[in-house]
Amino acid sequence: MDVYGLLGNPVGHSLSPSMHEAAYRELGMDARYVIFEPEAESLRAALQGASALGIKGLNVTIPFKQEVLTMVELDELADRIGAVNTIDLTGDRPTGHNTDAVGARRALTDHAVDVDGARAVVVGAGGAARAIAFVLADAGATIHIANRTKERAEELATAVPKSTGHGLGDLPELLENADVLINATSVGMEEDESPVPAGALNRHLTVMDIVYRPLETRLLRDAEEAGAATIDGAWMLLYQGVAALERWTGQDAPVEAMNETLRAELAGESGAFK
Ligand code: NAP
Repeated sequence: MDVYGLLGNPVGHSLSPSMHEAAYRELGMDARYVIFEPEAESLRAALQGASALGIKGLNVTIPFKQEVLTMVELDELADRIGAVNTIDLTGDRPTGHNTDAVGARRALTDHAVDVDGARAVVVGAGGAARAIAFVLADAGATIHIANRTKERAEELATAVPKSTGHGLGDLPELLENADVLINATSVGMEEDESPVPAGALNRHLTVMDIVYRPLETRLLRDAEEAGAATIDGAWMLLYQGVAALERWTGQDAPVEAMNETLRAELAGESGAFK
């Protein structure tokens, strides 16, 4: 039996085990996906132990996405982003990758968004925003980063090509001529709130929210009302998992089965805000 898993602490209720195990069933693999919650001081030992035990691959979540940077051989994108969410243990040495970035791009292209040459507005300047800004820049987009703490947006903009940094107050002006808007903050998860004023949205936009609990955020509802196209947060979650699975197994992921399982899990969760 092959073992894969998720490293984090605390992990809480993760959707990854059911999503990945749905893929293993579909592919006829004898495999399990397990949650591991090591203490921070044991992280290096946990990784070495995982390798020694023949574990094939690990996803990495809060608070370890940066901590593992020094413990694995980084691919070029993960190195530039400065965060790892997928570790491949199938080779001689553990390698670190950022499939959050890849997942965000695929969520957009899968919804017919032509990223090359697009004018994108990314709200947020944390870990997810960083991954998204770099991958959009690589794909040829021009990016405006708007964040509550303006200085963090400006700092990120100095690292990302063809980007500018702003406070949230600039959003109405930035959105007048934008093609794509991505919420990469946690706003919308705890409360029915949006980081973007509804009046700043328009029907020419494609709006992606990476918050997936709840799936239908205030921002996406406002976007629909404004006539914009919308992409919910489960798409990025799905495609980061797809990219990880394909890296670990070398097989094409059964995207439909993974998507169905993910959405069934999310639909079955009680309570809109958690
Ligand atoms: P993070 O590094 O902690 O960054 C949080 C961001 O949200 C910062 O830009 C922060 O602004 C902003 N923020 C927080 N509270 C705010 C508020 N009340 N008003 C305005 N801005 C606020 O977190 P992260 O890792 O980037 O994750 C962000 C969200 O993305 C989380 O909800 C996470 O679950 C989700 N996510 C989804 C996926 C997916 O696959 N769909 C993948 C990764 C993450 P300041 O800089 O001003 O504090």
